[in-house]
Amino acid sequence: MRPTLNSYRHIASGKVREIYEIDDDTLLLVATDRISAYDFILDTPIDDKGRILTAMSFFWFGVLGVPNHLAGSPTDERIPASELGRSMVVRKLPMVEVECVARGYLTGSGLIDYRKTGAVCGVDLPAGLDEASRLPEPIFTPATKAAQGDHDENVSFEYVADQVGPDLAETLRASTLDIYSRGAELAAERGILLADTKFEFGRDADGSLVLADEVLTPDSSRYWESDGYVAGKVQPSFDKQIVRNWLTGPDSGWDRHGDTPPPSLPTDVVERTRARYIEAYERISGLSFADWPTAE
Ligand code: ATP
Ligand code: MG
Repeated sequence: MRPTLNSYRHIASGKVREIYEIDDDTLLLVATDRISAYDFILDTPIDDKGRILTAMSFFWFGVLGVPNHLAGSPTDERIPASELGRSMVVRKLPMVEVECVARGYLTGSGLIDYRKTGAVCGVDLPAGLDEASRLPEPIFTPATKAAQGDHDENVSFEYVADQVGPDLAETLRASTLDIYSRGAELAAERGILLADTKFEFGRDADGSLVLADEVLTPDSSRYWESDGYVAGKVQPSFDKQIVRNWLTGPDSGWDRHGDTPPPSLPTDVVERTRARYIEAYERISGLSFADWPTAE
């Protein structure tokens, strides 16, 4: 018999995930179907998004082959039947308090920093780069985790070294760039650009780094369709563009710069967005989402 969810202590809610404690050493990370856009958590869930992102994390943990926090399979007996498919059983680890971001392309906060300073997180870049430009080589652009509701703040490598020590900072940078490069290479073979991504690492008892959290999901990464990629303009988001277009288009009646939260999404927007997430998973992994576990 699988346990029920309420037999576990709920310890935190993220924007998208719920975290429960299985025992002193083990957590249950449950990915919900919540989706964010323009810094709002929308009130309409995308069916199966939690399962799809969980499937992607398991896929990547499997192919990356670096030490990771998984403590059980997707159907581990400790997962409640109601949460099957969207849950990961993980080792509870002390986390390194640095958001380890790698960027291969320039956009978002990286582009803003570059336009102000010619650098991102203290990494000098050549002149003449534009929105979505491919960088000469991937760069490590760490950030500090903001309090809930705030944006993470980009910081320099030196800042990280001050916080965690130079050796660990060096290892974080090397691991982040290594994992990013391998992810980007595999995605590129499937016609998808991995523009940037964020990793979180925990520490093992011996101090070594363990890849934790979710990994290379569309919530922690920017994926772009390779087809049609051109530097110089904002690239469509692989997963969220349908939602963004609808929210900012004429039919939503929503003012992105006003102070009201976005309206509910129509069914066809939900359905098309769900199909995009499934496409991302199936193209990247080469696996069929129909085979992924589901609630019983
Ligand atoms: P958001 O992602 O919504 O900005 P968040 O990162 O605080 O907020 P979630 O991503 O939903 O919230 O929750 C995951 C939380 O669990 C994060 O705080 C992350 O650092 C933490 N976490 C992930 N893996 C582990 C682990 N193996 N041990 C301990 N904590 C972990
Ligand atoms: Mg998170």
